[in-house]
Amino acid sequence: VTVETASPSPVTADPFDQRLTAARAGLARRDAAALLIGVGSDLRYLTGHVAHPMERLTMLVLPATGNAAIVVPRLESMAAVASPAGAAGLVEIVPWDETDDPYGIVAARIATRATDAAPGRLLVDSSLWAMHLLALQRALPGRAFGLATEVIRDLRIVKQPGEIERLRAAAHAADRALDQIAHGPLVGRTEADVSREIGERLVAEGHQFAQFAIVASGPNSASPHHHASERVIRAGEPIVLDIGGTLDAYCSDMTRTIWVTGGDPAQAPTEEFRTIHELVRRANAAAAAAVRPGAACEQLDEVARRIIREGGYGEAFIHRLGHGIGLDGHEDPYLVADSPDSLSAGMAFSIEPGIYLQGRFGVRIEDIVVCGESGPDVLNEATRELLVVDG
Ligand code: ZN
Ligand code: ZN
Repeated sequence: VTVETASPSPVTADPFDQRLTAARAGLARRDAAALLIGVGSDLRYLTGHVAHPMERLTMLVLPATGNAAIVVPRLESMAAVASPAGAAGLVEIVPWDETDDPYGIVAARIATRATDAAPGRLLVDSSLWAMHLLALQRALPGRAFGLATEVIRDLRIVKQPGEIERLRAAAHAADRALDQIAHGPLVGRTEADVSREIGERLVAEGHQFAQFAIVASGPNSASPHHHASERVIRAGEPIVLDIGGTLDAYCSDMTRTIWVTGGDPAQAPTEEFRTIHELVRRANAAAAAAVRPGAACEQLDEVARRIIREGGYGEAFIHRLGHGIGLDGHEDPYLVADSPDSLSAGMAFSIEPGIYLQGRFGVRIEDIVVCGESGPDVLNEATRELLVVDG
């Protein structure tokens, strides 16, 4: 087993060998018998295998001891064989035919011996479809089930150098897409039209696909997860742009709040808006500056929240400070008031304070930040100063 060093590194078997070994060690530490991982980001993390979740079962069966296998519909077995872990021989590929019982195949691979006193728990990934879990429980009567999160969380929460470089590439691509959008024209267009353009630009800048492009103009900006609508953008109002996608399997997610004037000096930002934007900018900067190994996640939330509270808008900061990011757009750790977590070097997360005045307007500024050995590594480089756009 070698340590992944190159950045950005080609996808090789090495990280998957490491991750499977670490997952086995996690199972042993928790007296669990096996991981049962369906299609999703945990499967991708452990094996590199990517597929669409569906009614046909695809499942990594990783026992604490013994051979790992991916049980896969025969029509998808070629892709599993070609996956990094499959091609490297780290997992056996076990195809099943249309009339086979895949749950029986999984059960047989982790069958207990009559001499086993207390068979260990079986840990499934948190996004496994209920129909698959219920069928597994029928095929494995009497076995205790739990969530694979208790083993995989500790692995995925700390990013390896190759993962951080992919997050950085995704962040820079989003920076470029947002910069292009901020050049306008915006006034007179619908939110939905601008949202479509953002999606196209994220892809043009290297994303495999855009996951979301929130365009929240005027009063809509007070709704943090507003869906782009047919509302027409007018001069003299703010727009919250929250955009993200997937590049090399890793997610981007950034927000800037801009102001559009349509070229009319009478439509310049109001003093109140400038004040609120500056509060949010300071909250974002202060929280980012407080990032270091050992810092409590709840403390980071408080660093940003105190600035907004002391500015008089504490009630209007209606969500947590941020969320982890990696193969999933939202994952551990969460930067929230009651979090028991502290930062370690390699953790990646958003910092996204906001102020929302219902019926009027909102402001959010979001960056992706990695906790470095001695401080913050802010991946997004787009300016956080107020952008006043005249188009
Ligand atoms: Zn976002
Ligand atoms: Zn976010």
